[in-house]
Amino acid sequence: MKLAVFSAKAYDRHFLSATLDTKHVASDIQLNFHPVPLSSETVDIAKDADAVCCFVNDTVDAPVIHRLHEHGVKAILMRCAGYNNVDLKKAEELSFFVANVPAYSPEAVAEFAVALIQTLNRNTHRAYNRVREGNFNIEGLLGQTLHGKTVGVAGTGRIGLAVARIMKGFGCRVLGYDVFRNEAFESVGEYVELDVLLAESDIVSLHCPLLESTQYMINETSLQKMKRGAMLVNTSRGGLIDTKAVIRALKSKQLGGLALDVYEGEKALFYDDHSGEIVHDDDYMRLTTFHNVLLTGHQAFFTQEALGEIAEVTFQNLEDFRAGRQCKNSLIKAGASVSRPPRH
Ligand code: NAD
Repeated sequence: MKLAVFSAKAYDRHFLSATLDTKHVASDIQLNFHPVPLSSETVDIAKDADAVCCFVNDTVDAPVIHRLHEHGVKAILMRCAGYNNVDLKKAEELSFFVANVPAYSPEAVAEFAVALIQTLNRNTHRAYNRVREGNFNIEGLLGQTLHGKTVGVAGTGRIGLAVARIMKGFGCRVLGYDVFRNEAFESVGEYVELDVLLAESDIVSLHCPLLESTQYMINETSLQKMKRGAMLVNTSRGGLIDTKAVIRALKSKQLGGLALDVYEGEKALFYDDHSGEIVHDDDYMRLTTFHNVLLTGHQAFFTQEALGEIAEVTFQNLEDFRAGRQCKNSLIKAGASVSRPPRH
């Protein structure tokens, strides 16, 4: 069993190899690591593989899936929760096994979202730089006390719920919006319509998957519905936000702060060192110029625990596929492959 691992970094090698060595995983699995992302240009690397293992910015669209099929590849293992980059319809049509790792560590992502909120609010990133330069002036670093503020959680699934619980612990009022109700959320927060959440929240944190129905859920109109000066946080998927609209809202001060771990054009930038290059994405570069914008490169998941869990579940998914067993993480479910209903 040859598994071609795309977008492979040193940490992927480490956690996947260590799990293969120590856990109860079939010993005939051969891992082939490829640093490049899967795309139409790189798909032929997988010509001898039985399965491919992909990440958030790999292109797993219809032409790529078609080519994988021609090479005899049978399984697509997503080592992440989101799967908006996979054409599930084409995969199902060609009888692929496709699975993800839906809940490796919601707390890891939630804790990072809260770290972004805390950093942006209290300007710790700017204080760090000042102090290193011997500048102990605290002017410009003024924040707000979070206790008593209203936090809106859009998408109250695993990660949204974890964020809600943490913010409740801070003494915040928590509002939630979701197309499905999560009972566990109701013990920490109150469900409201999206417009109410936008209007009443001092901080809005996005935790919906990227679907047709959620693409650009933050746009010119929704930004105008937000409380003036509120903070927007996105650790979910870049496509939830219309970047150009957000830039306009920052310039007019309608938006008071923006923290992004994900970006709609991240595929061309994230996970690689572009420090010696000219970056051609003018919207992203504009975002870097605002004092009240905090950007990170899709790292909210990045904890030791999460990487260990991702590796274990990826192999469990592979084992289920090989044994012909029903896999609880399969994304191809009879009659529901195109837009799998959320679990609530
Ligand atoms: P989840 O499935 O547990 O929760 C998603 C929630 O969004 C569900 O409750 C669902 O009902 C809701 N939802 C779906 N469509 C909606 C809509 N139109 N409006 C409002 N709510 C809607 O998923 P999760 O584990 O909480 O993960 C959420 C997202 O976080 C993932 O889809 C992924 O894109 C992202 N993620 C990012 C990172 C990172 O490192 N930054 C890591 C893991 C996951």
